[in-house]
Amino acid sequence: MLSPRAFVALTFATVAILVGAWSSFFAQEKKLNWYKGNTHTHTVNSDGDSTPDEVVRWYREHKYNFLVLSDHNFLTETSGLNSVFGAKEKFLLIPGEEVTDKFEKKDIHINGLNPRELVKPAGGDSVVATIQNNVNAIRRVEGVPHVNHPNFNWSITADDLKRIKNLRLFEIYNGHPTVNNLGGGGLPGLEAMWDDILSSGMVQYGIAVDDAHVFKAPEDRTKARPGFGWVMVRAEKLGATEILQALESGNFYASTGVTLRDYQASKKEIVLNIAEQPTVKYAVQFIGQGGKVLKEVTTNPAIYAFKGDETYVRARVIESNGKMAWTQPVFPNKP
Ligand SMILES: [Zn+2]
Ligand SMILES: [Zn+2]
Repeated sequence: MLSPRAFVALTFATVAILVGAWSSFFAQEKKLNWYKGNTHTHTVNSDGDSTPDEVVRWYREHKYNFLVLSDHNFLTETSGLNSVFGAKEKFLLIPGEEVTDKFEKKDIHINGLNPRELVKPAGGDSVVATIQNNVNAIRRVEGVPHVNHPNFNWSITADDLKRIKNLRLFEIYNGHPTVNNLGGGGLPGLEAMWDDILSSGMVQYGIAVDDAHVFKAPEDRTKARPGFGWVMVRAEKLGATEILQALESGNFYASTGVTLRDYQASKKEIVLNIAEQPTVKYAVQFIGQGGKVLKEVTTNPAIYAFKGDETYVRARVIESNGKMAWTQPVFPNKP
């Protein structure tokens, strides 16, 4: 049972998400910028090979705009690093941790972005309860939760995620080499899980992250290196509140190497414009209920006009070397 105080905190979190979505809808009218960021990275404060200083330097030099250092059950102090690296509107370090829990043999890892204080693993008597208890613990300290690498040790299923409340984000791509993004052996990949969740009527957004641990072996493909998955967030300015609110209202896309020049969704259509690279080819798939490909185009811009019967539509951009971008689902018939 939730205590009255926890109930108030959770209710407040739900209202905050709704207000965020509502205000971001109108924010389209304002001037918005794209910011590149990674919300999942490790340092020597847990099992990474580099200091926070070295890790921040890597992302800053590779033209990211924001970063979350998310060590296992450790909240790295960021104010000092932000004063060294955080040039205004250029780079922002958002505090974070990877709340690292277990239920029996399943690994339940939930990132907490910008929590007021360290969250300890909350435990639980099932996979769902363990996820929910940690999500609640992160919300209680005003953090934004995201569920990490569901297929790591085949720990978390779509049916588990469908039952989680006050959760908006989970990883549909994680750059760590052993997290089974694509599924296998009859078990679904993360994108198929996403469509399963969306088709059930639940709204969860898909993020791409590095989960980088190793910065000192750039040629070693067996290691969890940086630069493989990120989010491009559309926000008014480079502030933790603005970035997290945009993430929780789906105002972003996930990428492993495709950049969009623009993306617009209205009640009528979705229009996305790819920042094309020379000699590279692109295809765009618009995906709906049941994970069905509703339309595939090779034009740029790629346009999908709603027919009127779609529950959700999201786009996947496939680049000829295997890089991808995933836009967030839109719900043309939701009031
Ligand atoms: Zn993890
Ligand atoms: Zn991690």
